[in-house]
Amino acid sequence: MSFKPSENEEKFFTEMALRERLRQRKVEEHQQTAAEKRQLKELHWLHCPKCGQQLAQEHYGRVEVDVCPECRGLWLDAHELETILAAKEGKANPFQAFLKVLGA
Ligand SMILES: [Zn+2]
Repeated sequence: MSFKPSENEEKFFTEMALRERLRQRKVEEHQQTAAEKRQLKELHWLHCPKCGQQLAQEHYGRVEVDVCPECRGLWLDAHELETILAAKEGKANPFQAFLKVLGA
């Protein structure tokens, strides 16, 4: 006795196989993208975006910034600018903040 799948069953299994191939392709694309991102990060980590030189770390007040020894470009990590400005403008002083809003 042989078993012959119905047309609907064949359709179902074909669709399942296609979905699995698509899922596998997406996984591979994601892995490739992640690997490319990791490779780019390793290649460019702490290098000047303008001239490609290795950045040096310097202290600007309480904040450690990355400075290019070649073009003197300066790189700030997230929230470092706000920290520098807050320290410079005396954010703790509401009167100075008020004058700044007025443009004085
Ligand atoms: Zn530079």
